Amino acid sequence: MTATGGATAAASGAGSNAAPGVTVRVPAKVNVQLAVGAARPDGFHDLANVFLAVSLYDEVTAAPAAELTVTCEGPDADKVPLDRTNLAARAAELLAARHGISPDVHLHIAKDIPVAGGMAGGSADGAGALLACDALWGLNSSRAELLEICAELGSDVPFSLVGGAALGVGRGEKLTELPVGGTFHWVFAVADGGLSTPVVFGEFDRLTEGVDVPEPAASPALLDALRTGDVAALAGALANDLQPAAVSLRPALNATLEAGTAAGALAALVSGSGPTTAFLVKDAEAADAVAAALIASGTCRTAHVAMSPAPGATVL
Ligand code: ATP
Repeated sequence: MTATGGATAAASGAGSNAAPGVTVRVPAKVNVQLAVGAARPDGFHDLANVFLAVSLYDEVTAAPAAELTVTCEGPDADKVPLDRTNLAARAAELLAARHGISPDVHLHIAKDIPVAGGMAGGSADGAGALLACDALWGLNSSRAELLEICAELGSDVPFSLVGGAALGVGRGEKLTELPVGGTFHWVFAVADGGLSTPVVFGEFDRLTEGVDVPEPAASPALLDALRTGDVAALAGALANDLQPAAVSLRPALNATLEAGTAAGALAALVSGSGPTTAFLVKDAEAADAVAAALIASGTCRTAHVAMSPAPGATVL
């Protein structure tokens, strides 16, 4: 895709005056299980979050600069903040502060992951910037140090660094890597506009008021399906406790979910806090067919095919 090509060219020094830089490729995620507990007194929710990294990527390039700046390219670039609230900028600042250096770096994000789509795009850029700056500045931070900064940046950021598949507990940030015994094929339908994760949790709280919400726990059947690479079993075990809240806020998602199922998807669910919807399919051929049907249905902005598991943040 053009966005990806642009970042790679900058990193490899193509062109006569391209700055030297480090490019990191980092995956989106889908939550194959997202079990949500009742709101805690501090407002957060305990989660049992089974993350699976998918082959839909952002690329973050870090290059020397006089001061910290951020640029972004891609279909959703206009929705990405370019100030210090950008998670990539915050990652550079946190890393620099730990080492007592100034975060003088230009960060360029080539963005293919939908913004505010429930696929952890901002988290991906945070993890990507962290790894890129660590390499650019020659800091050689240990994985444990990087993971500590990731957890400070946000609950989904550690998984963006690690990739593959993992169970996240606590707020989702305490990770245990999970074995995956095969390749799974997906289609992701991108909706118009985003959904704010805190707003979706607020709707979850509203919908579960007075309900006895069980303690979140990973499903043994789902972990087994991942371990054995059994796509039919995984289709039967997919679960997202945030789906009713996302659909309540965005009822049009029902039509997208139905269109993908009618086109032959084995299972359909909202990805994380939405509004991206995820469709598990049998193979690559089915993925192309379901993506084409979803686009033709007019119930989404676009559709991407992807495979999982995908590796975590990787220096190119
Ligand atoms: P998650 O799945 O982790 O809940 P998400 O995929 O729904 O997150 P993001 O794309 O991470 O959502 O963006 C959420 C908000 O974070 C955006 O609306 C934007 O204001 C802000 N943000 C900060 N940094 C970034 C970034 N690098 N890319 C995209 N959004 C960012």
